Amino acid sequence: DDRDERVVRMLMFGKPGAGKGTLSARLTKKYDILSISTGDLLRQHINEGTAIGKQAEAIIARGELVPDEVMLKVVTSKLDSLQNKHWILDGFPRTLNQGLLLDAHLKKQNTPLTLVVNLNVPDEVILSRITDRWIHTPSGRVYNTSYNPPRIAGIDDVTGDALTKRPDDNPEIFGRRLEAFYKSTSPLLNHYTTQATTPITSPINNPHQHPHQVLLHRPAKLSLRSITGRTSDEIWPELDYIIMSMFPSLRKRSDDTL
Ligand code: ATP
Ligand code: MG
Repeated sequence: DDRDERVVRMLMFGKPGAGKGTLSARLTKKYDILSISTGDLLRQHINEGTAIGKQAEAIIARGELVPDEVMLKVVTSKLDSLQNKHWILDGFPRTLNQGLLLDAHLKKQNTPLTLVVNLNVPDEVILSRITDRWIHTPSGRVYNTSYNPPRIAGIDDVTGDALTKRPDDNPEIFGRRLEAFYKSTSPLLNHYTTQATTPITSPINNPHQHPHQVLLHRPAKLSLRSITGRTSDEIWPELDYIIMSMFPSLRKRSDDTL
């Protein structure tokens, strides 16, 4: 379906602290796109003391990954309300199995992924970044005391609430999160590279199929883009350009909100 390729169904992929949340927020502020951050959702579950929050709290504190079945529940309940919308997933999938579960879920709804963006930020940059990070848990807003400070130190710009440190943003736990990324999350990139380059039906594999049928039945193709940079300010223009050129009909939010 040709129209389908104009819907943003995007994964923001990258290491912990790569800037997934910051860049997703810039996109949702500029464009008519919604974002789902599993890290933010889990922190809200913990704050509210839900059953999922109780299960996740200790795991997150250790820098490990929350079980796939729990994560699928957290994500699909949100995704199902966004079926006809433009959306970004930030922090999910984080294992190959989560990726396969997501593929199956989206296939059932006939809403396949259209874009995977891989944020490629050097490890040493990320390590120095997390010690400066402060967050506003209810909204997921992120600040950095060196390059993106709040207007008043320790205070959220929008609500005036006090900012907090994430308990897993310390060098020891961060090392484990990075390890989990390399071991469990990075294999997903191969999975999407394959999807982005292999057409499901090709005239070479099916010599008896009429070429027109091949075109008509080809599913919306997934694009995979990697962006390298040391800061989110460096990555942003490239990301914005990708979104603008791939989804030209995407509505911008009114200028006064920019
Ligand atoms: P950043 O927010 O800077 O990108 P991050 O990606 O490590 O860093 P979050 O996405 O906020 O952090 O996730 C925090 C923690 O929540 C993870 O370390 C993990 O324990 C848990 N978590 C979040 N998403 C998932 C997921 N898809 N699968 C398993 N655990 C998850
Ligand atoms: Mg995040």
